[in-house]
Amino acid sequence: MKAHVVTYGCQMNEYDTHLVQSQLVSLGADLVEDIDSADFVLLNTCAVRGKPVDKVRSVLGELRKEKQKRPLVVGMMGCLAQLEEGQQIARKFEVDVLIGPGSLLDIGKALESNERFWALNFRDELHEHIPPPPQGKLQAHLTIMRGCDHHCTYCIVPTTRGPQVSRSPDDILRELDMQLAAGVREVTLLGQNVNAYGVDQGARLAGYPSFADLLRMVGASGIERIKFTTSHPMNFTEDVAQAMAETPAVCEFIHLPVQSGSDRVLRRMAREYNREKYLTHIAQIRRHMPDAVLYTDIIVGFPGETEEDFQQTLDLYDEVGYDSAYMFIYSARPGTPSYKHFTDLPREVKTERLQRLIAKQKDWSARKFAGKVGTVQEVLVRGDAYTAGFLEGHTRGQHPTVVPKAVGAEGAGIYQVRIDHATPHMLYGKVVDAQGRPLEELPQFTPEAAALSSPLQML
Ligand code: SAM
Ligand code: SF4
Repeated sequence: MKAHVVTYGCQMNEYDTHLVQSQLVSLGADLVEDIDSADFVLLNTCAVRGKPVDKVRSVLGELRKEKQKRPLVVGMMGCLAQLEEGQQIARKFEVDVLIGPGSLLDIGKALESNERFWALNFRDELHEHIPPPPQGKLQAHLTIMRGCDHHCTYCIVPTTRGPQVSRSPDDILRELDMQLAAGVREVTLLGQNVNAYGVDQGARLAGYPSFADLLRMVGASGIERIKFTTSHPMNFTEDVAQAMAETPAVCEFIHLPVQSGSDRVLRRMAREYNREKYLTHIAQIRRHMPDAVLYTDIIVGFPGETEEDFQQTLDLYDEVGYDSAYMFIYSARPGTPSYKHFTDLPREVKTERLQRLIAKQKDWSARKFAGKVGTVQEVLVRGDAYTAGFLEGHTRGQHPTVVPKAVGAEGAGIYQVRIDHATPHMLYGKVVDAQGRPLEELPQFTPEAAALSSPLQML
């Protein structure tokens, strides 16, 4: 069988895609790069906003046409698969395999089945399952928990992914050891609210550590860089900031979604914190890590958001001075309390506010990136950049970075880089040695240089 998996949405979906792909390989499937050469196409879907749902609908429409022309099995997994909305879509577009976020290990049974196969249970085995490490990569994701116990009024995730379940620290550390042995140097711990790790009832009964202690345990494993996403302000404790600061492998990077700067809107979102509490956490982070890079998520145009509420969000952005933000227009999702009880704002109001927020974000990102010029940053290089002769990677603070190849820095690795130039989205620099001296640059490929060294030229 030739299988192709398409991934929409968040990093948890990327992790789940890897998990399912490794199951498929163990069942004898070949993974192929495109839909045309696949006889099994699986869409790993996102249901958080309307747009990714529309996208899945349109791809499924194409796949239904393709099924008329050749033998093709079509599958759907991820958040949309768990919803009635997704199941209606699956029926309409003749989807053969439907696997919810809690049933990923049923993929084998799905392939054995000769008829339509739907699996939507939340199965405990999933939490104990350790997927093989990614091969030939310096970065890996590691899911430390699944589900969510919060009930933000706009969010469909608690319905699609179920209640929070923390994975056992033994399983987490075993998975990490396998990643380390495979050459992974940066791990991103994943969960809807990682700092609520260990607080679900099962975890408490089993005596799992707090998130701060888990960070310390992961930090002692020998991994060089640790990141995590996402943190919920409600579950944030100063101990997390302290554990980050005292664990050298933990990067000085934190993604703390605020969603809105207005207490009135936060209350209507049921976010369980207010602006003041949020800012207290920011102060704690800055006290322990003065140079921490801060990212956030913001929803604009939540139902009932007034111009004054929105202004408070803009003011909060300036008060915190975020390095960057994921900004979303509110999307009314069937099945959420806000969809049921609140009236959506006009589209023009929402898009106009988004434009103003994007301008603010660009302004701050430009300042933050420019502030890195002249500093030395630790960059994890993934490999070749788009431009020949250059490498691309990212700093501990997640800034995309480009460097020329140099003797001793010709491919993937972790290097010290002196930043010479910045745009609002990219840092440019040179790899330096322990004394801060640039490594010797390799001759660059240019058409002129190639012509000069060609045998014809020598004749
Ligand atoms: N658990 C994380 C938290 O609470 O911060 C975030 C997980 S959520 C899947 C990712 C982001 O999607 C949220 O932070 C929120 O900004 C955005 N989001 C969720 N539901 C949304 C909706 N209905 N409309 C617009 N954005 C939404
Ligand atoms: Fe959704 Fe809120 Fe849970 Fe985040 S904390 S996944 S936004 S319900």
